[in-house]
Amino acid sequence: MSEVIALVPGTFDPITNGHIDIIKRAKKIFDKIIVAVATNAGKMPLFSFEERVELTKKVVETDRELWGVEVEGVKGLLVDFAKRENAKVVVRGLRAVSDFEYELQMAFMNRRLNEEVEMIYMMPYIKYSFLSSSIVKDVFFNGGDISKFVPEVVIEAMRKKLSERRG
Ligand code: ADP
Repeated sequence: MSEVIALVPGTFDPITNGHIDIIKRAKKIFDKIIVAVATNAGKMPLFSFEERVELTKKVVETDRELWGVEVEGVKGLLVDFAKRENAKVVVRGLRAVSDFEYELQMAFMNRRLNEEVEMIYMMPYIKYSFLSSSIVKDVFFNGGDISKFVPEVVIEAMRKKLSERRG
């Protein structure tokens, strides 16, 4: 059988230990993983598209268990990117029930757009089940400790953002 390429897409604003948990789980199963960082202007991200791609790459480089994982910025439809990369699988994380409805909607739409791609859902460790990029940003900008939720390089990038904001 030919190698199975899986995409792990998201906004990654910023990447958290929850995302990393899902990427590692996917890496155990599929031959090649491409983390697809979306532009997602609709979400008004804290980090720019380029910054999110760079930061995600840095996280991959600094975590031995992630070596071999590729990181790509994706403009346009994910299913088109999947076609170009010959990826047959898209992996998403499922945290609480609240993720389900949105994921279901997206899965059906993606299927209509490209029948060749299968969406697969994975659950993180329970300790990451209530973790999101927005909560991390909230805690950080209110002076809280985020060291259990994101890697060190992400904390550094957040500190830099904070000092830029303060001017
Ligand atoms: P999107 O804007 O596409 O939802 P996110 O960066 O918020 O992008 O999330 C990307 C993927 O990672 C989604 O499948 C989301 O459910 C999953 N995810 C986010 N946080 C966690 C977490 N703590 N545990 C498991 N999966 C997560």
